[in-house]
Amino acid sequence: MKVAVLGAGVIGVSTAHALSMLGHEVVVIDRQHAVAEETSFANGGQISAAHTTPWAAPHVPFQAFKWMFQADAPLLFKPLRWDPSLWRWGLRFLANCTSRHAALNFEKALRIATYSRGVLQAWRQHHGLQYNQTTGGLLYVYRDQSAAAAGYATAQKLTDHGLSQTILDRDALLAEEPALAHAEVPLVGGVLSPDDETGDARQFTETLAKIAQDANVTFQFSTSIKALTTRNREITGIATDHGTIEADAYVLCLASETPRLLKPLGLAIPIYPAKGYSMTSPITTSDAAPSRSITDESKFVVITRLGNQLRAAGTAELAGWNTALDPVRLAPIVSATQSLFPNAANYSVIEPWCGLRPATPDSVPIIGGTPYDNLFLNTGHGTLGWTMACGSGQALADLISGRTPEIDLDGLGLDRFSH
Ligand SMILES: Cc1cc2nc3c(=O)[nH]c(=O)nc-3n(C[C@H](O)[C@H](O)[C@H](O)COP(=O)(O)OP(=O)(O)OC[C@H]3O[C@@H](n4cnc5c(N)ncnc54)[C@H](O)[C@@H]3O)c2cc1C
Repeated sequence: MKVAVLGAGVIGVSTAHALSMLGHEVVVIDRQHAVAEETSFANGGQISAAHTTPWAAPHVPFQAFKWMFQADAPLLFKPLRWDPSLWRWGLRFLANCTSRHAALNFEKALRIATYSRGVLQAWRQHHGLQYNQTTGGLLYVYRDQSAAAAGYATAQKLTDHGLSQTILDRDALLAEEPALAHAEVPLVGGVLSPDDETGDARQFTETLAKIAQDANVTFQFSTSIKALTTRNREITGIATDHGTIEADAYVLCLASETPRLLKPLGLAIPIYPAKGYSMTSPITTSDAAPSRSITDESKFVVITRLGNQLRAAGTAELAGWNTALDPVRLAPIVSATQSLFPNAANYSVIEPWCGLRPATPDSVPIIGGTPYDNLFLNTGHGTLGWTMACGSGQALADLISGRTPEIDLDGLGLDRFSH
């Protein structure tokens, strides 16, 4: 079967690879000149399969309201914008802020994230993939007792779900990550999530794309998709600025652009961009830089070593599709990193970046079919697209091929938004 994969981020390329391994003829289309040029370009680098707690939770509306008036807040919601899609998304988000929904959404995200980590490991072993990865786990650190108490409660919940988590007091934390001894702020403890991993999502996507290309997957870059053409309940082609492309099946992996393409088809997709920032700096003193990825739970910042570079990422701003870099939003990420690892990097040389996380209101991606027989979605991975990419690609490729996916996709499809 000929399958057109729309979008060459980490999700599109993982999907294309999985499809090609199952023997399909695959073409990948993207408006950029290369793979991973948008949200998959410079993310936090964490494969945090164990930590899939959804954004929507009972305490969040109150917290978000408090942050609404703080320009450098970790989560910034700008409800005064005249943007009906933001309002609709916000209402759905609020509806997911009950304990019951939070528990259901956590289970769904955990299902795909832990499956995905296994698929990533299998692909890495099979193809000998190198992408500046580490496999020693992730460390969550707390600056005060209340953040620690919340973190320990999460760790307990994850343990109850069968995930390995180790609670650390301050001394044990410093023994796990000696570079934290240089921190200029008090730390009260941490949690080690030993089975999680890190790696450079962009490098991974580039490497996997080369493997896919060698297996005859075609990449058509610098091609903007303008519309999907339909007949009855079937997609007949993709109209692009370079002509029409036809296939037997189509997979949309267009992240935050998904709703715009699907609206003319009568499909309302609740994905809204949550803009995040990262900085990348050259490591100057190896021993002063973390050996594992750190999540500073008090500041909502992740800090990851990617080879000889230090990457830090965080913040979320629900304010439309604009990708302008605002130094006010980046500053807390730089200062949190500098206060934990003051001697690790040259902080006067930073590569700033921002990207739009394709966020669903329940923090669960949309993986599966649509009312159009030959149209499939693999999108809306929000904060965890790198974590979930390989499993999402494999599960959808199995579904398209008429094979039973290795995980239950119940609750991950578009139909959950139909009421
Ligand atoms: C600051 C930040 C930190 C993050 N940290 C982590 C992390 O530590 N761990 C983790 O798991 N996830 C993380 N994420 C989330 C992760 O990066 C995303 O979920 C993931 O990159 C989404 O991948 P994607 O392929 O769906 O999107 P993209 O990489 O954006 O790919 C979509 C592609 O579609 C193409 N496209 C869109 N519209 C069109 C069109 N009309 N025509 C042609 N092409 C089009 C784009 O060019 C793009 O290449 C982070 C995100 C941000 C912003």
